[in-house]
Amino acid sequence: MSQVLYLGHPSSLEHDPGPHPERPARITAIERELDREGWPGLDREDSSAASRAQLEAVHRAAHVDSIERLSAQGGGTIDADTATSAGSYRAALHAAGGAVELAARLLSGEHERGISAHRPPGHHAEAGAAMGFCLFNNVAVAARDALDRGAAERVLILDWDIHHGNGTNDIFHDSDQVLYVSIHGWPLYPGSGPFEDRGAGPGEGYTINLPVAHGTGDDVYASLVEHVVVPVAREYRPDLILVSAGFDAHRADPLAAGAVTEMGFVAMTRSLHRLAAELGVGLGLVLEGGYDLGALAASVAVVLRELVKPPPDSGWEVARHPAASAVRGRLAERWSALARS
Ligand SMILES: [Zn+2]
Repeated sequence: MSQVLYLGHPSSLEHDPGPHPERPARITAIERELDREGWPGLDREDSSAASRAQLEAVHRAAHVDSIERLSAQGGGTIDADTATSAGSYRAALHAAGGAVELAARLLSGEHERGISAHRPPGHHAEAGAAMGFCLFNNVAVAARDALDRGAAERVLILDWDIHHGNGTNDIFHDSDQVLYVSIHGWPLYPGSGPFEDRGAGPGEGYTINLPVAHGTGDDVYASLVEHVVVPVAREYRPDLILVSAGFDAHRADPLAAGAVTEMGFVAMTRSLHRLAAELGVGLGLVLEGGYDLGALAASVAVVLRELVKPPPDSGWEVARHPAASAVRGRLAERWSALARS
């Protein structure tokens, strides 16, 4: 069995937005939990920083400049939710670089599964702006780099953070090279991501937004992944599966009203693990949100435990929730796999 790659970097602790839920202790909590377990099956490595060219393949140069300059000045506030300190630029370079490196190592076959566990998170960051605790869009920079290098032709990004990843949604809105699927609370920050937003131009149909009500729990999340995301992915045939892995849909999270437990994250991971094994492609998680330290650390730990195991066999099943059946009906015209059975 291959080892699971864990990429992190000490700079993640140097991004200090002040009193804020997106705080350095998030990473400390995760790594302390893994310390306690002894990092079983995990190859722990430090990430490299993203290059300027890798960032500018997604972000406007002026945006990268502004984050660099702000950090050089000791940091400052960007918007009501987003602030930086002197260490933020370096932390953000490694957060993006860790995602890039994860994708590259999975595509080269060096590892089959892994996680990039850095902060700040990324999925709200737009091409030209920081937003919602995010400076650079880590998962987007990783997917773009893999595509531009020709290492992948198609990338699936599943975003299970409870907030809609508006940045990722918009960056790949007109591309069929990235299938972006988001399961997110509704109504909730940032307010984007209605079901009707399905991409545009050549990207029409390659954005799938699945808003869910407050209080949505394991059964719906697991069923949407197993009975919507998995069949669609089989039809799309990605070369790489990335997850914008936020853990703020957890029932203990203070920022939102999700009802997911550790077992829900395990179920989603199992479905993706089996899918990745079936397709013979890599599966990489890129950390996004998750603000209850205990829930975050426990969830990351159980998810990694799943990734270390062999993929589940066909005996493991997920009940089809009516919410997943309804989504299948609405998407069946575009994705024929959903029209079957
Ligand atoms: Zn979030």
